[in-house]
Amino acid sequence: MSTFQELGLSQDLLNAITDLGFTKPSEVQEKAIPVLLDEERDLVALAQTGTGKTAAFGFPMLQKIDINSRTTQGLILSPTRELCLQITNELKLYGKYCKGLNVVAIYGGASITEQARQVKKGAQIIVATPGRMKDMINRNLVDISKIGYSVLDEADEMLNMGFYEDITDILSFTPDDKSTWLFSATMPKEVATIAKKFMYDPIEITVGNKNESTSQVSHEYYLVNARDRYQALKRLSDANPEIFSVVFCRTKRDTQKVAENLIEDGYSAGALHGDLSQNQRDLVMKSFRNRQIQTLVATDVAARGIDVDDITHVINYQLPDEPEIYTHRSGRTGRAGKTGISMVIVSKSEIRKIKSIERIIKKQFEKKDIPSGTDIVEVQLMALANKIHTTETNHEIDKHLESINELFADTNKDELIKKFFSVEFNRFYNYYQKSKDLTVSESRGSDRDGGGRDYGKSTNDTRYFINVGRKDGFDWMKLKDFLKEVLELGRDDVFKVDVKDSFSFFNTEKELQEKVLAFFTDYKHDSRFVNVEVSENRGRSGGGRRDRGRGRDDRRSGGRGRRSDNNPRGDRRSSGSGNRRDRRRSDDNRSDRHSNDRADRKFNDSRGDRRSSESSSSTSDRPRRSRRR
Ligand code: AMP
Repeated sequence: MSTFQELGLSQDLLNAITDLGFTKPSEVQEKAIPVLLDEERDLVALAQTGTGKTAAFGFPMLQKIDINSRTTQGLILSPTRELCLQITNELKLYGKYCKGLNVVAIYGGASITEQARQVKKGAQIIVATPGRMKDMINRNLVDISKIGYSVLDEADEMLNMGFYEDITDILSFTPDDKSTWLFSATMPKEVATIAKKFMYDPIEITVGNKNESTSQVSHEYYLVNARDRYQALKRLSDANPEIFSVVFCRTKRDTQKVAENLIEDGYSAGALHGDLSQNQRDLVMKSFRNRQIQTLVATDVAARGIDVDDITHVINYQLPDEPEIYTHRSGRTGRAGKTGISMVIVSKSEIRKIKSIERIIKKQFEKKDIPSGTDIVEVQLMALANKIHTTETNHEIDKHLESINELFADTNKDELIKKFFSVEFNRFYNYYQKSKDLTVSESRGSDRDGGGRDYGKSTNDTRYFINVGRKDGFDWMKLKDFLKEVLELGRDDVFKVDVKDSFSFFNTEKELQEKVLAFFTDYKHDSRFVNVEVSENRGRSGGGRRDRGRGRDDRRSGGRGRRSDNNPRGDRRSSGSGNRRDRRRSDDNRSDRHSNDRADRKFNDSRGDRRSSESSSSTSDRPRRSRRR
């Protein structure tokens, strides 16, 4: 293993390295830096984020450019604004002793005039996202005709994001004799094509195997029923009290929903996806970096370029469609020499995807069981004990000690400890004491896709009332298809569809409830508002047991922000919101006529002023929406 001195770096850079506290070069630095310093050559490096690749191209570039010149000599293209800023900041740190160095970031969503002004001052290095860079070239605001070095960072991501044409256009404005250094975590054929087309006899460097995940990351999967996915996520978080995680979902909607659910359930979580404004995204990332947010729920696109080093866990709430994307996800942890865990929550129908990912990352997953309630309670208790043990004593308490001692005069030490711990511990204990086992055996057919759904017994379904029926041209099949289509749900996601004359009922898994209700807040079918509400009875037959959920909810409703024993993280939800969707309906046969009347009334309401129909409802008609736990 060489030292930074041995790699041939200048004293200015070595001084900065000392300040940064880097003690030895990382693998990619050791392999790339000497070659790039010694020769004017193209390079293809397969390296994940977190391996120190910014310094691997940054140090040689900083050493090779002429700082006394104001001409732009280096161009770094990166897929996202986030990454662009991150690279710029890193380069500024690496070049802090290079007097006169000007590194400028160019990215969308910020003032182009200001960026042009910065460039005009004389930027030796430009770090840019392809879209804004092209824009600046088209407006003659940058000149890259004399660059000596171009870097394509996270090339696979840039191509995934559809930047192929922008990149080729941009490169056409650069001189042929420049050196091009391409960095990519994976090597799909599109990246290989770029390398072939734009590079001459590149040196290839691989950190680990092609497409392989970093060795610092271990991979685990948890097999659960699809309907228990959210519960599983919470347990994985609760079983790791110090978790600092990114949770990946497939869609923006799921991302938002999972984050909202976590927040409502008392977790410090935030959502990161493309429907948020740049400002909102910046705020979320800031909170995540400052650890105000412990769990960041993100889509793949939005998470590109997340440069947070200490992420302990990546949780795949849903697996990505493309197995290659998994490498990017898991690469968000195990950065900068640290270890990390990448967890996958899978249902039986997805288990085969694990095998294809294993082939790509060339690593085995470990199958693990979702922690039991007892495990979690124990972990939380010991975490609390450790926290208390390491907490520095606040001597401001001294002056109150006498009165406190007086209060506990008759309590012995053991009793006092138990009482003290119970303050925090009870919430977890009460929530988890009767919790069920969420793990599914690979051989048993209990998953809906594997062994069929046990409709009759499930307490994890939500039954809905919908104000369309036979009169609107629906039979059960048409209604099922309609719901699946508008809600973008899978084959088995809508079930127990029961169509009556002017209204109907259907079920989904509880985890879809939020999505279903949110979608039908404002949805029109044939220019009529479609109204969907949670029905009180889960079963299809009128003889089924009545859902006791309402009673439970009522007990839980402790008022705004009150912590609840049914929620180990505490309940931050407001109780009894005036939302029209908080109403529940009963679809038992006894109330069929009643429901029918109400349905017709509701339907008529929905054709008129919806708000007036809401405000005219009495509050007693509005039990709270069933809670998620
Ligand atoms: P990167 O792969 O460039 O995103 O780097 C990931 C993180 O590792 C950044 O925070 C760097 O500052 C840090 N880093 C880069 N090189 C080293 C090194 N040789 N030793 C320790 N940390 C490093």
